[in-house]
Amino acid sequence: MMKRIYFDNASTTPLLPEVIDVMSDVMKNHFGNPSSIHFHGRNAKAIIEECRKKVAGLLKASIGEIYFTSCATEANNMVLKGAVEDLNVSRIISVNTEHHCVLHTLEYLKSKKVEVILLSVDANGFISLDELEILLKEEKKTLASVMYANNEVGTIQEIEKISALCKEHNTYFHCDAVQAIGKFPIDVSKTYFSFLSASAHKFHGPKGIGFLYMNGDNIIKPMIYGGAQERNMRAGTENIICIAGMTKALEMAYEEIEDRKQKILDLRSYFMESLSQEFEDIVFNGSQSYPYLYTVLSVSFPPSDKVALLMFNLDIAGISASSGSACSSGVESDSHVLQAIGHPTERKTIRFSFSHLNTKEEVDTVIEKLKTMTPVMAN
Ligand code: PLP
Repeated sequence: MMKRIYFDNASTTPLLPEVIDVMSDVMKNHFGNPSSIHFHGRNAKAIIEECRKKVAGLLKASIGEIYFTSCATEANNMVLKGAVEDLNVSRIISVNTEHHCVLHTLEYLKSKKVEVILLSVDANGFISLDELEILLKEEKKTLASVMYANNEVGTIQEIEKISALCKEHNTYFHCDAVQAIGKFPIDVSKTYFSFLSASAHKFHGPKGIGFLYMNGDNIIKPMIYGGAQERNMRAGTENIICIAGMTKALEMAYEEIEDRKQKILDLRSYFMESLSQEFEDIVFNGSQSYPYLYTVLSVSFPPSDKVALLMFNLDIAGISASSGSACSSGVESDSHVLQAIGHPTERKTIRFSFSHLNTKEEVDTVIEKLKTMTPVMAN
């Protein structure tokens, strides 16, 4: 069988063997319901609380500020809806390059008469801090929701400055940190966040688990009602297997953060150099001045008949990457993020995204295969 190359780590990452070991142990030996008060229940509960302590420790949060959720989509929904319903927020300021789980929740809230302002971005994907500040000066109870790192083009917003502005203007600050957690050392004791969302499957943990950091001052009401799990914030028997797997994955990501970063940065530069040498008129989307999300490289190829089926041809050639287009009613168009940065629609974009498990040999193979699919540099 053909050995496939996986360059789609911004979509999801493979589970690490150490994570699988921890999850297997929980599956085999700790099946109790954490709400039961007998031995098995107490044992399961202890695992969850130990995980909460570790996750909180990594982010420098208090233990009571971490809530496990089924995914980041859930955490984002909880915050946006909860801020309106429970914190009397009348206005949400966000960005037109956010993930759909934020944008679609905001559309829903707009239909419920909440004022929603979507900031636009420049060609590199940055919002204007001046524009944000002008809005924050208005006397309205506001939540600003700005993602840390963009999942499609890798731009990292000026989070420290945005956080400082929100603090200065008494504004709640939510950050979708899904792509950044485990890659950048986020410290909630130093940077002001009211809420921060994360998802395990982006840092080599399992799917179906995430967490919300909620600053102790901003308690919203639960989105799901039922039992008293997650300190009454999220009812439903806890996914202890995935909580344990996510915690192990996050611990490993923090321990190896610098080594992984260096390896992926080298790989990314090597890929960029090879692409620039071999192919005509290619453009890299998103900000290329560090810090950027080093796991993501969004490449735009010039228009040609050859590139029309690029994603499809890469897949046939054994390479999993991601397309920069969205398909609506059978018509392909640039994704909302590419449109927001003013990407020319006739060009074809592929997002390659890496993990520390990728190699330069894989890059070489991808370059060789790409040469048969796109216009190469004339000699
Ligand atoms: N936010 C960002 C920036 C993402 O990249 C993703 C996943 O693609 C999500 C949110 C949603 O995460 P989850 O799959 O945990 O719902």
